[in-house]
Amino acid sequence: MCQHTVPATMKAAVVPEAGKAIEIKDVRVKRPEELAPGECLLKMICTGVCHTDLHAALGDWPVPAKTPLIGGHEGVGIIVAIGANTGNSPVKIGDRVGVKWLANSCLNCEQCKKGREQNCEHAELSGFTVDGTFSEYVVSYTNHVTPIPEALDSYAAASILCAGVTTYRAIKYSQTSLGDWIVLPGAGGGLGHLAVQYARVRGLRPIAIDSGEEKRKLCMELGAEAFIDFKECKDIVAEVKRITGGAGAHSAVVTTASSSGYTQAVDYLRPGGTLMAVGLPGKAGLEASIFFTVFKSISILGSYVGNRQDAYEALDIAARGQVVCKYIMKDLQALTSVYDGMQQGAVAGRIVLKF
Ligand code: NAD
Ligand code: ZN
Repeated sequence: MCQHTVPATMKAAVVPEAGKAIEIKDVRVKRPEELAPGECLLKMICTGVCHTDLHAALGDWPVPAKTPLIGGHEGVGIIVAIGANTGNSPVKIGDRVGVKWLANSCLNCEQCKKGREQNCEHAELSGFTVDGTFSEYVVSYTNHVTPIPEALDSYAAASILCAGVTTYRAIKYSQTSLGDWIVLPGAGGGLGHLAVQYARVRGLRPIAIDSGEEKRKLCMELGAEAFIDFKECKDIVAEVKRITGGAGAHSAVVTTASSSGYTQAVDYLRPGGTLMAVGLPGKAGLEASIFFTVFKSISILGSYVGNRQDAYEALDIAARGQVVCKYIMKDLQALTSVYDGMQQGAVAGRIVLKF
């Protein structure tokens, strides 16, 4: 039984239609007795804002989000109710848990059984196919909410749930070894600034690419060995080669929301290098010389968020203080201005909204 009194309505940031202005308004909260088996209701503490939420609000991807839409998928809250007849719930009322992009998956299909839960054909996505975390209460799923380690503050944990998990996994599969060079286009953003740190945890040598003094300072403080300003540098390939002693980098994890971050990545990788595609421009193709991709034995891999185990591992590293999300706290009402800042490339690190 739920001890917490769930109000009839809550404040939420609603996208009425793709590309339309966000409305902060009162919407109905699902009653605890209406929760289906396997569903849980969270009272939210905070949520990060990911560039994916902006793509969803703009509708600039080849796959459409539901509308009206409550976005958000980096949320932390307390479970206040669990659907009746939920069997074997790994979480209980009162637990502090996270809501990530992958809201739910069937756990029984080939993809789920292989650990690629994010590619489940029945996957539900927070803030995309189901309402997300930009509201005071959120309905999520007991099997997929992520317990937050006690040592980790909710605000510090929020963006680990997407930006952290995603970059953690991309680096894990980047085919790199201790001491390798890794180029991080987008390093000053939400994903990128965590990528710099996860790269260091793995013993890699990050070369950050982004623009502006604030992002340069952030990346260098977090452990980048070099920073290249993509708006000022005339020849990024030559610069990466110079920094790496001529051979080029072993890997690149691209976390830019526009295709420009991908340009030349194959050119600055050394033979045998791996390009991890993470940033999600909706309509761009990946431009790479077929000849040199083959001739240099380059691997190009897509990396899409992470599974439950990746979430556990990414949070565990953060809970031990090895990766720290640099965020500015704002109110839900600030969401539109946060999106404006993101579009202009003016957000260094992350914005976390508090409730
Ligand atoms: P963000 O806006 O916080 O960061 C993007 C950064 O890229 C900014 O700092 C910007 O200045 C920088 N940038 C832009 N053009 C660049 C260029 N040519 N070279 C170097 N840097 C450049 O965004 P974010 O929240 O970190 O998300 C980034 C992208 O990753 C989005 O497209 C998002 O949808 C995607 N994403 C993918 C996954 C996944 O699973 N693959 C998960 C989460 C987010
Ligand atoms: Zn995200």
